Amino acid sequence: MECDKCDRDAVMHAAYSGAHLCETHFCASVEKRVRRRVREDSLLPADATPDDPDTWVIGLSGGKDSVVLTAILDETFGRDPRVELVALSIHEGIEGYRDESLDACVELAADLDLRHEVVTYEEELGVRMDDVAEKDPVNMAPCAYCGVFRRDLLESHAAELGADKLLTGHNLDDEAQTALMNVFEGDVRQVAKHFDASLGSFDEREEGSDFVPRAKPLRDVPEKEVALYAHLKELPAHITECPHASEAYRGEIQRLLLKLEENHPGTRHSIMAGYEELAELAAIRYRSDGSDDAGELGECERCGSKTARDVCRKCRLIDAVEAA
Ligand code: SF4
Repeated sequence: MECDKCDRDAVMHAAYSGAHLCETHFCASVEKRVRRRVREDSLLPADATPDDPDTWVIGLSGGKDSVVLTAILDETFGRDPRVELVALSIHEGIEGYRDESLDACVELAADLDLRHEVVTYEEELGVRMDDVAEKDPVNMAPCAYCGVFRRDLLESHAAELGADKLLTGHNLDDEAQTALMNVFEGDVRQVAKHFDASLGSFDEREEGSDFVPRAKPLRDVPEKEVALYAHLKELPAHITECPHASEAYRGEIQRLLLKLEENHPGTRHSIMAGYEELAELAAIRYRSDGSDDAGELGECERCGSKTARDVCRKCRLIDAVEAA
């Protein structure tokens, strides 16, 4: 099959749009979607200047998503003096897995001449995921611990690095899966957080606040296209699955979504269009009746993180791991 835009062979067919694209036009289309998302989400403020650039900390795991995001952002903004890019990698302490993906991060950062910071669970929290998964003191999936620890370290270190935004490599499939999980679980507060965390908060950062707004510029690009882009561009992405991967429910939703997308191309896009509207309505509702979480949060008496309790979830989990 020929490319829709030139006479070269197509390397991909997107059923949701009907497009057949060659390597050059496919890569350009992925980059265009990322740049459009950056623009539509107003990531770059009008008052950013070379003297006062906007600092974007990118969560770089070494997997295909964060590697592709980092490469496209570097290509687009690497020489723009209004933006300062910093890559931040988290080492969870997973033998034979994170070491290799960290190698991919180091290689990419060196190729792009990008500032790269590495933070480990062991140094920062005194735990390693291999030990946490083995001890499992509160009987939950390894990813549930890991998600809490990683979120905490990404947010606190992004704040320390002076981030104006924390960018992560969530793709369209990740986002549609999360949307469906929140809806199926009836978790409207979590739906509202999607708006607060990634869509509506760039202008609302309080002076002196540690809160770093999140952005997901890859969220319009399906997972398979991210993988194809990484392959065609020969990016140093690490593909192996984590030995503790355990999100069984997400796996079920993933299979369901793939089937729906196959039978009804465009399902993921329509889920996200509806979900973003729903998230905004839910966020407005919780704000207007004063029941949004923001007003209820205090500081963890141990680490100072924002929490609704005396001691935050991360510190309670670390206590449980240490006591096991
Ligand atoms: Fe952590 Fe789970 Fe990801 Fe492994 S798969 S790195 S345990 S969140």
